[in-house]
Amino acid sequence: MGMVTWRRHHGHDLVATVVVRQPTAHTIAVWNESTGAVHQLPTVFQRLQSAKAAADAYLRSTFDHMCTLESCGDWMIWTG
Ligand SMILES: [Zn+2]
Repeated sequence: MGMVTWRRHHGHDLVATVVVRQPTAHTIAVWNESTGAVHQLPTVFQRLQSAKAAADAYLRSTFDHMCTLESCGDWMIWTG
């Protein structure tokens, strides 16, 4: 079984991800699908919820994004 990745779409082309590397080791990345720009942090988070919150915050600060109910989705497990 491979690593589990969680994804959340923000707006039209921004994506936040959390990769579950071990049960207590999660890493985050954010990217812009239109430009291909990817940003990662070296921080390892112990808890999934903390990693998700950090990924959302990192995406907002990195891409100057503001979340709205209409434009941003839910966290979902990415199987593709
Ligand atoms: Zn958002």
